[in-house]
Amino acid sequence: MSHFYLQDGVLCAEQLPLTSIAAQFGTPTYVYSKAALLENFSAYTRACAGRDALVCYAMKANSNLAVLKLLAQHGAGFDLVSGGELLRVIAAGGDPKKCLFSGVGKSADEMRLALQHEILCFNVESVQELHRLNQVAGEMGRTAPVSLRVNPNVDAKTHPYISTGLKESKFGVAYDEALATYRTADSLPHLTVVGIDCHIGSQLLEETPLLEALDKLIELIDALAAEGIAIHHLDIGGGLGITYDDEQPVAVGSYLAQLFARIDQWRAAKHGGAPIKVLFEPGRSIVGNAGILLTRIEYLKHGETKNFAVVDAAMNDLMRPAMYEAWHGVQPVVARPTATQTYDVVGPVCESGDWLARQRDLAIEPGDLLAIMSAGAYGMTMASNYNTRGRAAEVMVDGALPHLIRKRENPADLFALESPLPGL
Ligand SMILES: *Cc1c(COP(=O)(O)O)cnc(C)c1O
Repeated sequence: MSHFYLQDGVLCAEQLPLTSIAAQFGTPTYVYSKAALLENFSAYTRACAGRDALVCYAMKANSNLAVLKLLAQHGAGFDLVSGGELLRVIAAGGDPKKCLFSGVGKSADEMRLALQHEILCFNVESVQELHRLNQVAGEMGRTAPVSLRVNPNVDAKTHPYISTGLKESKFGVAYDEALATYRTADSLPHLTVVGIDCHIGSQLLEETPLLEALDKLIELIDALAAEGIAIHHLDIGGGLGITYDDEQPVAVGSYLAQLFARIDQWRAAKHGGAPIKVLFEPGRSIVGNAGILLTRIEYLKHGETKNFAVVDAAMNDLMRPAMYEAWHGVQPVVARPTATQTYDVVGPVCESGDWLARQRDLAIEPGDLLAIMSAGAYGMTMASNYNTRGRAAEVMVDGALPHLIRKRENPADLFALESPLPGL
C-alpha cells in the first residue's frame, strides 16, 4: 500500500496533508513516510526470517541520520561506499560490525577507519586494492575480512548508467580472473577471505539476472572449496527496482524465496545441507517509494510549442531526470477540477537539462504545490548546491506528525568554507 494518497482531494503523507508540511517547512522539501520505510525494509527481514541472513541497506540511496537510525534499530546492517558513510552509520548509532565496504576506489585512510571500527567485510574490487588493504591491515597489526566483488557478466537489462555487471563495467573482478584473484587474497598474510559478492545493477525488474548471477557465484564457491578456500557468506548485492510509472518489479518476498530455494538445493546437494550466510545490499527498494519531493509552482510559461511549469525545485535537488532521463510521477497536491494542459516541469537552474518531468497533463496554477513521486532514493543524496542553491529540507512523517530531519540549507552555509585570497 502506498503511504502517499489522496484524501478529500488533498495528497497526504500518511495522515498528514502535504499542504501543512509546505506551510510549516516551506518548499522544496523532501517528505518521507516512516511507515513506508519500515514496510519496505520488513519485506526483506520477513523473507529472511529464521535464516542466517543480513540486510545491509545501501545507504548511498538515502543517508539521512534519521533514516539510518530507524533502520539500524530494526536490525539493518549497512553497505557503505566511503569513509564518510561509515562515520554517518556511527553517528546514527548503527553497528560497524554489520557494515560492508563497497566501491572501486577505497583510499588507505578509508581502509584504516573501517579496520579501526572492525567492519564486517571489505568488498574488494581489484588486485591492487587487495595489496593495499593487506598493507594497511598489516601496519595496524590487524587482519582484514574480504570478499571479492565478482563481475558475473550477466546483463541486468537496465539503464546503462546503472548496469554494473557486464564485462565492460568498471566494477568488480572479471569472472574469469576471480579464482586467481581469490588465490592472491588467500595468500596475503593480513587478509582473511570470508565471502563473495556481486552487484549487477540497479532498478532491476526481473529476478532472472539476479538468479543467473547467483548460479555464477555458486559455481565459484564450489571451485574455491575444492582448493581449500572456504566462503562463509554470499552477498548477492542490491538492485531490485521500484514502480516509478507502470513498471511491475518482482516482489521482494518472491525474489528472496526463489533465491533461498536455489541456495538450499545447492547446499543440500553439495555441502551436506550446511548453511551459508546470505547478505543483501538493497537501497532503492527500501527508500525509493517512501519519499516524495514537495515543490511549489513559481510560474507557468505558455510558449509557442511547449508549456512550462517553473517550480522551486530543480536538478540540483533531484538529479535523476537530468542524469538518467529518469521518469518521476508528478501529482498536484490539491486537485483542480479544471481542464489539463501539457507541461514540462522545470526548475530555476540555468541549464536546459534542468527538468524534473516532461509532457505531463496537469491542471495547475502558479502557487500550486506538486509532489514529485518516488523520490526517496538517490534524491537528496545526489543533491548539489549548483547555482548556490541551499539543499532542500527533509521531513519524516510518522502518522500525523511531521519531524524535521534536516534543516533547509542557508546560502551562508554554502560559502562558509570559502576564503578570499590574502590581501584582497
Ligand atoms: C548502489 C549499490 C547498491 C544498491 O543498489 P540499489 O539498486 O539501490 O538497490 C548495492 N550495492 C552496491 C555495491 C552499490 O553500489
